[in-house]
Order: sequence, then structure tokens, then C-alpha cells
Amino acid sequence: MLEALKERVCALNRRLPTEGLVKLTSGNVSGRDPSTGLIIMKPSGMPYEEMRSEDMLVMRECGHILEGTCAPSVDTETHLEIYKHKLDIHGVVHTHSNYATSFAALGLEIPPAITSVANYFGGPVPVGPYVSVGGKAIGEAILQYIGRSTAILMKNHGVFTVGSSPEAAFKSAVVVEDVAKTIHLAMAIGKPVLLTEDQVESAFEFYQYEYGQK
Ligand SMILES: [Zn+2]
Repeated sequence: MLEALKERVCALNRRLPTEGLVKLTSGNVSGRDPSTGLIIMKPSGMPYEEMRSEDMLVMRECGHILEGTCAPSVDTETHLEIYKHKLDIHGVVHTHSNYATSFAALGLEIPPAITSVANYFGGPVPVGPYVSVGGKAIGEAILQYIGRSTAILMKNHGVFTVGSSPEAAFKSAVVVEDVAKTIHLAMAIGKPVLLTEDQVESAFEFYQYEYGQK
């Protein structure tokens, strides 16, 4: 079932290492089918180069597996908690991408010192508290701290991103790592100059409503 969505989710998982967002088997991408509400989850601990769309699991929001024989990702409950409470979210990505996670290691948000941060995340990329890995509690903390951003850093852990599709969540995961790298480099040579609240707001609105092909 949901073969097309399984292929999309599998392809995005396989892109995690090629985009430099994960090493070995860490990280995960999931997607929710808008019409059935069913969720496609990545299998746990499977090398990305061996992963095929038929290895993807199909599950209900409660975690009940309808299709798939592999054990699901250890972060499954976290993804499910997000889907349960955010009905407009149809994609979730988790990585430990290096630059973004360096902010998480310090318990720091990524400040809006370049327009891309404002464009994509509408303010600083927030940082949530440390919560032990894998359960529902980390999902609850993400929902509590993410605000209007599509990315959040979880302290001492890594990055979670959300989107209206698995592709949108994946794009946020790529962008958050890219802006984190730039700000990290800026912090190595000085103190970043922050955009004002008005500048953040207009950059965010511009990107939401004006950017791209209409
Ligand atoms: Zn993790």
C-alpha cells in the first residue's frame, strides 16, 4: 500500500547521507499520507545504501504496523507524537547534522544573523530542552518549543524538522544545516550582527508569499 509515498520517503532517507546530514545509520525521514492519515516510517539501523521502498513500514498514528517486517526507527514515537498534534504536518526529519548539532551541544538557538534564517524559520531556530532519546516526551517538547519554525534543535542531541510534505521537511533539514554552518563560521571570527524583529518579519513574509514561481 501507498507505494508512491514509500518510494518518496525511501528516496529522501537515502539522500540523508549524500547531503552530508547523517553518518552510517543515524537519522530518519517519515511521511504521512494526507488522504488516509497513514504514516510511512524508516526501518531501524538499516544501511542507507541497502534500503529499498519495500523496507518502509506503513503504520497508523497509534503505532500499529499495517505493513512491513522490519523494526521501525527508534525515533518512531517522536514522529508519531508530532503527527498526532500537528494535522498540517506530513513530513518529519531527524538528523544529527554537525553544524546545527554544534549549537544543540551548547544549548544555543541559531540566531537570525542572515536573511536565510528569517526566510525559512521566521526567527531564530529554537532550541528545546534535553529529553531522553526515542520516546513520546521528545515529541511533546518539540511541539512545545518549535513555534512557527519548521526546525528545532534539541539540546545535547540534534535536529528535528517538519513540513507540509516529507520533501518540505527534508528541505528544512538541509537549510538548517547550511545556515548553522554559516553562523558557526561567523561566530568563529566575531560576534554575529542580528537582524531586527522588523527585518526578520519582512524577510519571512517575503519568502512565504513572494519567492518562487507563482
Ligand atoms: Zn537522534
